[in-house]
Amino acid sequence: MRTQHAVRNIRLCTKDCLCLYVCPVGASDTENGQIDWEKCTGCGACAVSCPSGAISMMPDVLPAQQKKTEAVIHSLTALADSKMKEEAAALKTAADTSDQNEKKLAAALARSNRIMAEDLIREAGYMLPQSANAHELLVSMLDDPAGDFPVKTAEELIEMLKVNEQ
Ligand code: SF4
Ligand code: SF4
Repeated sequence: MRTQHAVRNIRLCTKDCLCLYVCPVGASDTENGQIDWEKCTGCGACAVSCPSGAISMMPDVLPAQQKKTEAVIHSLTALADSKMKEEAAALKTAADTSDQNEKKLAAALARSNRIMAEDLIREAGYMLPQSANAHELLVSMLDDPAGDFPVKTAEELIEMLKVNEQ
């Protein structure tokens, strides 16, 4: 029984080389660049052969989310909050200034703060694919899907990514 599957980081992939030849089931040769989840047997041959380190093996069942203490969660969310305020301040500077260099620097700072805030929120335990809150969000979006919300994909994700919290 399969316990893992291969995933490809397209940014690292230089395309059309070894994994296409070693895969016994043709799962690594796809039109969209993603390894075929259903065909992959999890043998790992592609990950070993890839010269660019572009393929990782992922467990089929994600490990349980690590619980954090309330104090740690509080610190992480407080820091994320400060990063979001810094992002808002940088965006305001970028909008207000007429100096092009200042505008670019402020925009870069805003982006950087956004990325840090998102990382902190993930570290605090929110929106991991196997977490209950990620599932609850998807289910709530299915209750009242906005315009082009990908309903079928959301349903597939809910089915594939089981909640795994102890
Ligand atoms: S893990 Fe094995 S079956 Fe899956 S894509 Fe890689 S080589 Fe193919
Ligand atoms: S072996 Fe690695 S770099 Fe080459 S096509 Fe496969 S994933 Fe891309």
